[in-house]
Amino acid sequence: SVRVRFAPSPTGALHIGGVRTALYNYLFAKKHKGTFILRIEDTDQTRFVPGAEAYIEESLKWAGIVPDEGVNYGGSFGPYRQSERKETYLSFAQRLVQEGKAYYAFDTPEELDAMRERLKEARVANPQYNAVTRMQMTNSLTLSEEETQARIDAGEPYVIRVKLPRNEDVRFKDIVRGWVVVNTATLDDKVLLKSDGMPTYHLANIVDDHLMEISHVIRGEEWLPSAPLHIMLYRYFGWQAPEFAHLPLLLKPDGNGKLSKRAADQLGFPIFPLNWQDPDTGELSVGFREAGYLPDAFINFLALLGWNPGGEKELFSMNDLIDAFSLEKINKAGAKFDIEKAKWFNQQYLKFMDENDLTARFLELLDREVEPDRAKAIAVSLKERVTFIQEMPEAGRFYFEAPNTYDEKVARKKWSNEAAEKLTEYVQALKEQQTLDAGVAKETLQKILEKDGTPIGKVMPALRLALTGQAGGPDLMEIVALLGADEVSERIKKAAD
Ligand code: GLU
Repeated sequence: SVRVRFAPSPTGALHIGGVRTALYNYLFAKKHKGTFILRIEDTDQTRFVPGAEAYIEESLKWAGIVPDEGVNYGGSFGPYRQSERKETYLSFAQRLVQEGKAYYAFDTPEELDAMRERLKEARVANPQYNAVTRMQMTNSLTLSEEETQARIDAGEPYVIRVKLPRNEDVRFKDIVRGWVVVNTATLDDKVLLKSDGMPTYHLANIVDDHLMEISHVIRGEEWLPSAPLHIMLYRYFGWQAPEFAHLPLLLKPDGNGKLSKRAADQLGFPIFPLNWQDPDTGELSVGFREAGYLPDAFINFLALLGWNPGGEKELFSMNDLIDAFSLEKINKAGAKFDIEKAKWFNQQYLKFMDENDLTARFLELLDREVEPDRAKAIAVSLKERVTFIQEMPEAGRFYFEAPNTYDEKVARKKWSNEAAEKLTEYVQALKEQQTLDAGVAKETLQKILEKDGTPIGKVMPALRLALTGQAGGPDLMEIVALLGADEVSERIKKAAD
């Protein structure tokens, strides 16, 4: 069965790339009726950031990416926070030592530096602790068994390093990238267990993927270089490795380099799902949520960053995405981040948004009381004219206040005494109507124009100008109906002055 995990480290705000990784894992799990797990990889205590874990959880919740298992979601493979699984990693590291696949190393930081210096002087391009150099260092391969034990008993700090073969090809087939082959000569004897007793990412990650019965590892391309080591570790433990799919990078809008927070700041678009206040600097980064993106639009946009379902269809609900998703359709090439596309998606979703939800959000943003039906009619009239809900109060200001300024160009070209006269006549006729809706407003206007054959283009722009001050906007007859005959009359008088 399919079991996948999103395994973020709580080292700061979740970057949009992380949300995409979570999304692809989620879509893949749902597509195959599998399980999506949230695991928190918090073994690097030096990089731990308070609040980051809660931020990750809240972000996923907002985006509608709900774990089936994991930290705060339960499940029978827990605990799902790696800091609570210390003992497990220790025992697995020790097992590798006993089997001769890993070793204790006692080298001090100074000794390690000295080793690197020596190698640099000898012009070794990439100084590493590996099959060649480990024989000159202080570890259980060069010390006797008694000496090793004595040092451990004396409480001397040590790490456990994996013992990699000197020259061996490691190969595996990545679902996105195809065959990957790496020679162990380019890898070093990575630390598996640190001197504080905490595992490194590599050990904890593969132990947990094994124990949690992960079938597919779907993660960012930045982890591709670690995959050969992981394959070696699976082999050492005698475990079957999961399948791997490494996701393409997210690139800056111009395709020139990796998408970074700095690039996003410079170009003025969000890169985090939610507002994030950096605990060190206090700096606030505005998130997609606060910038006004609807979660469904955000998800639709994100899903298409690196995954191509083929065909013309662009609008995908979460369920559509689940239906269409496959790892095979993930692109190898990096995906250019285009904020204009994100805005376009938001507009589309705004159009289709439930009208009652839309009205509720609109009312929250308005600093005045509005009768519900009227608020709804106004919200609906505005929704195709804005990109974000937040823009609606300003875009609809004229519904509540007569304009104080008028679009000059329209005023010059379209306002005339003749138009003003016709409009006054129109208002009179409007006042005589029993009920007023957009249809009545239109019929009434047509009747007046028909009398002397005045073309509609003579009065409509002038009327819009008088009512809104602007050249464009929502359906004019709708505006007339919503304002009512008296207010329309007032505004025409004001404009004529
Ligand atoms: N903790 C790693 C991260 O922060 C997980 C990488 C993986 O999925 O293996 O991205």
